[in-house]
Amino acid sequence: MNFADSEVVAAILGEAGYGLCTEPSEADFVLINTCAIRDNAEQRVRHRVRELRALQARRPQLRVGILGCMAERLQSRLMAEEDNLSFVCGPDAYRRLPALLHQVREGMKSAEVELSTTETYADIEPVRMDSNGITAYISIMRGCQNYCSYCVVPYTRGRERSRDPQTIVNEARTLFGKGYREVTLLGQNVNSYQWSVASGQCPVGFPELMERVAEIDPRLRVRFATSHPKDLSDRLLEVMARHGNICRCIHLPVQSGSNRMLQLMNRKYTVEWYLDRVEAIRRYLPDCSITTDVIAGFSGETLEDHQATLDLFRRVRYDYAFMFKYSEREGTYASRHLPDDIADEEKTRRLNEIIALQGQIALENNRKEVGREYEVLVEGESHRSKERLFGRNSQNKVLVFDRVPSTGGAAAEPGTYRRVRVADCTAATLLGELSD
Ligand code: SAH
Ligand code: SF4
Repeated sequence: MNFADSEVVAAILGEAGYGLCTEPSEADFVLINTCAIRDNAEQRVRHRVRELRALQARRPQLRVGILGCMAERLQSRLMAEEDNLSFVCGPDAYRRLPALLHQVREGMKSAEVELSTTETYADIEPVRMDSNGITAYISIMRGCQNYCSYCVVPYTRGRERSRDPQTIVNEARTLFGKGYREVTLLGQNVNSYQWSVASGQCPVGFPELMERVAEIDPRLRVRFATSHPKDLSDRLLEVMARHGNICRCIHLPVQSGSNRMLQLMNRKYTVEWYLDRVEAIRRYLPDCSITTDVIAGFSGETLEDHQATLDLFRRVRYDYAFMFKYSEREGTYASRHLPDDIADEEKTRRLNEIIALQGQIALENNRKEVGREYEVLVEGESHRSKERLFGRNSQNKVLVFDRVPSTGGAAAEPGTYRRVRVADCTAATLLGELSD
């Protein structure tokens, strides 16, 4: 989400005459886009800001500012605490950045942190940064009002609002025309995407939006993140099943395998509901991968609750998981009403247990892939060798393979689809060979 936002910021500042540079030592402004979801993300940002002091001493015109959720959460307090910062700008205020930078050049310090109920940056064509020219993100909505009790997002990104579907389809079509072959539609809870148009016309929900994007061209892959389990509908799964270019991968954050925890987290579903949704995914899309997010050591989590999470992982057998220790966030319901009462070492122990289990499951899942063949969108050179390329299959698994098939056929090129047979694997990667 931040990556997509930075591309919007680059477009707004590009319009105002600013250019991007690759080295901070050449910059007049360094803008750091930030996440406030966990304390360690914030600490890393503060470290980065402090590191820039040395460069500022050598380059007095250099101004440093913070964008995004930390700016929204801490506002001018952040400038008081980090005295080399000149400005903070929240996620709904990016259109004001040119004016803000102007003030900063005049020597002022400035904070723009007003949230909006309507801003979606729908008309802005993002400047693709660090792009491979093949895959891109498209933001389809902003904000969140689910108020999961642990989560700071509703406070830093404001009310949920959806972006005009026509602008989304246009953006995807433009990308396809430029040679991109995969778009990921982004929102905190894409399943609640809703665009109400003039009376007499049907409102557009996420399944309809997805269908419109998928119909641009069968060669354009469509992905999305994130799905809140409470809103994952059969209608969406039906649409996915009808379109082979909608990728077979659903990110379905569970957070905990214990109903008691889920209720305290205000997730609005039960383990039974979640498993029913997993079953529906497997029914409609038998080859779909499922990934998740989980939090270890939330308020009052007992060993039984933790075991319930491990049990759920064993039942669902996720292909990938983002696993976190609970980090209390100021202002949330949990910080006001639910004590952060699991000792840090115990959180770490539980987290490591989940990580170890998930590593084992991912490896076992991958071993079953050996011998299968997939259509892979080739993305680029593998990190290890120029002779090897990597790409992803529809399930979002990374496959690494030789650029030239051993049988001597045509070499693979980034941006094209090739068939790859899986020959071996690790927990994170499938190793294969071109088979077409
Ligand atoms: N909107 C998405 C999640 C966005 S935040 C959803 O609801 O699924 C990404 C992940 O960060 C969450 O799924 C959660 O697992 C984690 N997270 C959020 N707040 C957290 C906190 N206070 N401590 C630890 N992890 C947290
Ligand atoms: Fe946070 Fe919950 Fe919204 Fe996700 S759905 S962003 S976890 S409040």
